[in-house]
Amino acid sequence: MAPNLLVLGGTTEATALCRAIANAGLRGTISFAGRVVRPVRHPLPQRVGGFGGAAGLADYLRAHNITHVVDATHPFAAQMSRNAVAACADAQVPLAALTRAPWAPVPGDGWTTVPDITAAVVALDRAPARVMLAIGRMNLPAFAPQPQHFYLLRLVDPPQTPPPFPDHHIMIDRGPFRTDSDRALMADHKIDLVVSKNAGGTGAYAKIAAARDLGLPVIMIDRPALPRRLELHDVQTVLDWAVHAPTDLGV
Ligand code: NAP
Repeated sequence: MAPNLLVLGGTTEATALCRAIANAGLRGTISFAGRVVRPVRHPLPQRVGGFGGAAGLADYLRAHNITHVVDATHPFAAQMSRNAVAACADAQVPLAALTRAPWAPVPGDGWTTVPDITAAVVALDRAPARVMLAIGRMNLPAFAPQPQHFYLLRLVDPPQTPPPFPDHHIMIDRGPFRTDSDRALMADHKIDLVVSKNAGGTGAYAKIAAARDLGLPVIMIDRPALPRRLELHDVQTVLDWAVHAPTDLGV
C-alpha cells in the first residue's frame, strides 16, 4: 500500500517534515491539538483537535487507512506521545518519533536541573526575583504558589485568563529566536533568573545561550519519561523509513 502518513505536529520539526512529505509526493495529514490560534501553514491537509485518547486515535488510524504515524510533537507533549504508542500498537500501524536531542550544559552555564514543573515551582520558593518564565501558556497556573516574583512571559497567543501572579509582562511572539535579541530582552527587563523546559533543538535555545552570556542562572526542567518507541532524528530518515520499512512496527 502506498504510504499515507499521519504527522502529530505542533513543532518546527513537524513543519519541516510536512514540507518534505509534500515535496516527495507522498500522502500525509498533519494533526494539531488546536492550542494555537494561528498555526503555521503546512503544505499537507490538516486536522485539528484531540482524537479522544488512545482508543480514539486507533479508530482514526483505521478509518483513514493510515499506514505510518510520525510523532513530531514537542518533547513535553507526553500524553499525546503515550497515546500514539498505545494506539499504533492497537491498530498495528508503524510509529516513529521525530525527536531532538535534549540540551546539555556547556561551560559557563549555571543550570539547576529539576525533574518536572512541580519541582520548578518549588525551586522558585525564594525572595522576589525577576524571572523569565519561558514554558508556554498551558503551565502558567502551576506557578500561582510563587506570586512574589516578576515574570516575563513570552507566548504564542495571549492567555485566555490572566496569569495567577500579579507582576508580569506578556510578549506575544513565535520562535525561532535569536541570542542577541534574547540577551537584549533579558537586559531590558533586568531578568535575573530563567525557567525553561529542556526542549532541545535550535528554535528555543537562544534564551539559554543569552542566559549564559549574561551569567544568569537557569532552572532547567527535565523531559517527561516516555514509553520505548522508534526514535529518528532527521526528516530524511523519517521519509526513508516511511517508504522502505512499511512493515517495521518500530518498537
Ligand atoms: P499533551 O499534554 O501531550 O496532549 C494532551 C491532549 O491533547 C492529547 O491527549 C490529545 O488529545 C491532544 N493533542 C496533543 N497533541 C495533539 C496533536 N498534535 N494532534 C491532535 N491532538 C493532540 O500535549 P500538550 O503538551 O498540551 O501539547 C499540545 C500540542 O502543542 C502538541 O501538538 C505539541 O506538539 C505542541 N507543543 C507543546 C509544547 C509543550 O511544552 N508541551 C510546546 C510547543 C508545542 P486526545 O487525547 O483527545 O487525542
